[in-house]
Amino acid sequence: MARDYYGILGVDKSASDADIKKAYRKLARKYHPDVNPSEEAAEKFKELSTAYEVLTDADKRRVVDMGGDPMESGGGMPGGGQGGFGGFGDIFEAFFGGGAGGSSGPRSRVQPGNDALLRTEVTLEEAYAGVRKDVTVDTAVLCDRCEGSGSKTKAKPVTCHSCGGSGEVQSVERSFLGNVLTTRPCGTCEGFGEIIEDPCDHCAGQGRMRKRRDLTVTIPAGIDDGMRIRMSGQGEVGHGGGPAGDLYVEARVKPHPVYRRDGDNLHVDVKVPMVDAALGVTFTAADLKGEEVSLEVAPGTQPGQTIVLEGEGMPRLRREGHGNLIAHVNVMVPNELDDKTRSLLEEIRDLRAENSSVHSDDDGDGGFFSRLRDRFRR
Ligand SMILES: [Zn+2]
Ligand SMILES: [Zn+2]
Repeated sequence: MARDYYGILGVDKSASDADIKKAYRKLARKYHPDVNPSEEAAEKFKELSTAYEVLTDADKRRVVDMGGDPMESGGGMPGGGQGGFGGFGDIFEAFFGGGAGGSSGPRSRVQPGNDALLRTEVTLEEAYAGVRKDVTVDTAVLCDRCEGSGSKTKAKPVTCHSCGGSGEVQSVERSFLGNVLTTRPCGTCEGFGEIIEDPCDHCAGQGRMRKRRDLTVTIPAGIDDGMRIRMSGQGEVGHGGGPAGDLYVEARVKPHPVYRRDGDNLHVDVKVPMVDAALGVTFTAADLKGEEVSLEVAPGTQPGQTIVLEGEGMPRLRREGHGNLIAHVNVMVPNELDDKTRSLLEEIRDLRAENSSVHSDDDGDGGFFSRLRDRFRR
């Protein structure tokens, strides 16, 4: 059966977090192991701490308010928390699999629901500006006919007759070790210790059912691929109409045909004709807002050089400002020359050969590369 957490702390159901904290502090001072070393006090202190943990956690407190016990969800920690094997009974149970979760009484019928995950695709433009997306989710929701009670008449569950509310039944089995006492979850109440006498037709007494819903999720500007947005209480409703988990919407940012993203920075490759790289030029390009940005290629720009436009990158998520836009210059060398272009380029070459023969970064004259070039020149 569910423990009376409010009773343990001596507060009533309407107690605020502050009331609960105050009550806990007062009692903890009395039973703290440093103050009171008795076995009894230690047990009491543990109980107080559990009650405090439960009642100050909104989800767990809801389970309590719906008649459940969030600390008895099966699986997890065995009730007493004594660890290891307590005696022969436990050893036999381990051998013969007397039901997982140990013999710690019934599990709570009202359980907190699971979180749900959904993925949605966004374009880089949408990630830049932020967007509201309509999504369809398919989760367990509260049964609208019985409002989560699981009962046709919204009656409270009653104690299971088969197990007397313990949620488990024991039987003696013969084995090569002699007679062994085996404990199993009760089949009548599925281990909950209580049953619903007139189950709701709509949800078969589960208090919840699957339903497709449409939701709108707000995707903030600057979201990156794989980031998740949490929508509190939009996940799966738990067994017995327990509070819903959260819904996480994961953004999948589609690759962009022009811009590459690296954190807050955007990268773009620009092809600059050789002559423009030498003389300088200004390009315009459409940014992610659809507005024009101008890109100034300075005279003498080298292949592989980058041009940084500060503050033209992605918006910083939940912070001020933007990253940078970084253009990578790719100098295009003509590969097919008409006669006129060829003669002009030859003219330039002759001109440059007269002015200087220093074209490499080698220190001094006669470095390896310049000598090599001399040999190839004619
Ligand atoms: Zn129902
Ligand atoms: Zn039962």
